[in-house]
Amino acid sequence: MVNIILFGPPGSGKGTQATRLVEKYGLMHISTGDLFRYEMGNDTPLGLKAKEYISKGELVPDEVTIGMLENKVNMHPEAKGFILDGFPRNIVQSEALDRFLSAKSSQVNALIALEVDEEEIVKRLLHRGKTSGRKDDSDEGIIRNRISVYKEETAVVFDYYSKQDKAYQVSGIGSIDDITNRLFNQIDPLL
Ligand code: AMP
Repeated sequence: MVNIILFGPPGSGKGTQATRLVEKYGLMHISTGDLFRYEMGNDTPLGLKAKEYISKGELVPDEVTIGMLENKVNMHPEAKGFILDGFPRNIVQSEALDRFLSAKSSQVNALIALEVDEEEIVKRLLHRGKTSGRKDDSDEGIIRNRISVYKEETAVVFDYYSKQDKAYQVSGIGSIDDITNRLFNQIDPLL
């Protein structure tokens, strides 16, 4: 399996770019945010639990999130590998992911971080909020909270994979095509 973490703050373009990577590399896209939104849309117990945190811009507890991610991977034994988008978001999740993949004789091959500055992110998310129907995109207070959580808990995931020599940075500014090409240029030599 080939497993790539597409990393970066909220609004850095992970979802958009993940679709392009899936097309090119034939990997499966897993977005934990999308999985939570699906559960919330169906008012499942998991969705109701997740909503308590998502509506405030906080992280959903690890025991819920890690189990959900592992179930999704286990449901697709045919997959050539995965593009992980929005997971892992802290060190506990990173360690759990490494253990989980290692038990399958697999691993994270690379983490690629999309670099976008904070003001650009706030602008993009407020813009997205007008059409996405996502409440957590339409309130600047929630957006700022998501960015603080990213800085305080998530950014260290880059250092965690950097210590394994697997972390790379790509500028997330510019046209969608330009950013996709930068990602391809980073990933191609690794495969
Ligand atoms: P996203 O679509 O990736 O921006 O995620 C939307 C929201 O879902 C986040 O603000 C978190 O509340 C929650 N979420 C998504 N992925 C995770 C994760 N790996 N750990 C905890 N919470 C998450």
